[in-house]
Amino acid sequence: MKQSDRISTLLGDGDDGWGIFLKAREMIAAGSDVVELTIGEHDIRTHPDILDAMNKAAIAGHTGYAEVPGIMTLRQAVAARVQARTGVPTTADNVMITPGGQSALFSAHHAVCDDGDTALYIDPYYATYPATLRAVGAIPQTIPAHAHDNFQPRASEIAKHAKGAKSLLINSPNNPTGVLYSRATLAGIADVCRTHDLWLISDEVYDTQIWQGEHISPRALPDMADRTLVVGSMSKSYAMTGSRIGWIVAPEAVIANLINLATHTTYGVPGFIQDAALFALEQGAPLEAEIAAPFARRREIAMDVLAGQNVVKHVPCMGAMYLMLDIRATGLSGEGFADALLDVEHIATMPGESFGQSAAGHLRVAMTVEDEAFREALERLVEFAKGLVG
Ligand code: PMP
Repeated sequence: MKQSDRISTLLGDGDDGWGIFLKAREMIAAGSDVVELTIGEHDIRTHPDILDAMNKAAIAGHTGYAEVPGIMTLRQAVAARVQARTGVPTTADNVMITPGGQSALFSAHHAVCDDGDTALYIDPYYATYPATLRAVGAIPQTIPAHAHDNFQPRASEIAKHAKGAKSLLINSPNNPTGVLYSRATLAGIADVCRTHDLWLISDEVYDTQIWQGEHISPRALPDMADRTLVVGSMSKSYAMTGSRIGWIVAPEAVIANLINLATHTTYGVPGFIQDAALFALEQGAPLEAEIAAPFARRREIAMDVLAGQNVVKHVPCMGAMYLMLDIRATGLSGEGFADALLDVEHIATMPGESFGQSAAGHLRVAMTVEDEAFREALERLVEFAKGLVG
């Protein structure tokens, strides 16, 4: 039987970029001691107090169908958080709770793109973006952001592709680059969106991991709230990756349609998970800071290890749990370097090319192992790179 073209072509024809990751997993399964710096998963688990709240909610009976848009108290808490952080008036009617940011990205594009519409996104990009856009029937189109611009996208590049496009997806703090978009970058993006009548989808799942500069949500920029859908998540901010809970913040009319979509797809998020998320959000900034702290420390460790040499350069690490290293001085591609580093040093990193061609010659290092192991792995990485230069 023939399956749908949409699902058969979901991944496009390119390599999906997970080769090194899979090889590392195979080596680990075969008993090799590999330092895993590939995926964006905390090395701590969900906080025991959050688990306690989850357990209490389940025992108390919150295990039946929960309200599809999310329980009202959680929608209100998300609205209050967003309003406090951005100053934009936000109510529960602007919020839908989703099974994680990934589902929110899919739903947000579903809400604004028709079949065959062009959906823009920035290269380098979080690896799932192109297939998520294809999954809703849109045609993904990359906009390059350049290493020589520290991966801040230029409005002029976006404008080149904006005519006739339907949406633009951005992500700040950025995975994979660790870059935070500046006010000037975001003002330029907002300008293009208004001029070309684009929907803006702003993936802000790393908004609690800010190391340098200020996180600006483009929904707060002049005349942007009506055309912006913000994707948020509890995964990174509260180490709740496995709980699958996030949200979309959008104009009320968009949320009303998204609730119809959720009714006919996910049917919402388990009530006890939502209660746990509400508990977590009520702890607020102190708990967010506690969960972000290991990455802030490891970023400092990285700055220390990388200082005083010129072979491995780094992209300004302003936010998120990643470090983007420029290894072009070694003459290898990101893939070549990551492959050799895994073979020789048993250190697994993601080649920049896994996130698009703009990150060629780079490596993404997830700062997700304990501090001393992280320092040692980075020191070995630098020595390995120096060895290649001779
Ligand atoms: N956006 C970005 C940029 C991400 O890195 C991730 C997860 N790695 C997600 C969205 C999705 O996260 P989740 O579904 O766990 O909320």
